[in-house]
Amino acid sequence: MELPRGATRVYCCAVCRVDTPHTVAGHRGNTYGILCANCRNGAIVHGETLIEYHEKWQEDLRAMLQGLRGGSHE
Ligand SMILES: [Zn+2]
Repeated sequence: MELPRGATRVYCCAVCRVDTPHTVAGHRGNTYGILCANCRNGAIVHGETLIEYHEKWQEDLRAMLQGLRGGSHE
């Protein structure tokens, strides 16, 4: 799976130390150059790592929202 330039994925910024949306600035093969939306710092990451991190983040977010709604019966 290839991410188009300008796509955003959540990733842990090495500068901010938090999960922030990162914009794909470009890629060479499966290595992506991404920019933090918060501090504009660049990072180099493998495509799979970026996609996996984003998916895990979405799962965590879903679980958190479910918890906030009191949906602990699962
Ligand atoms: Zn940052």
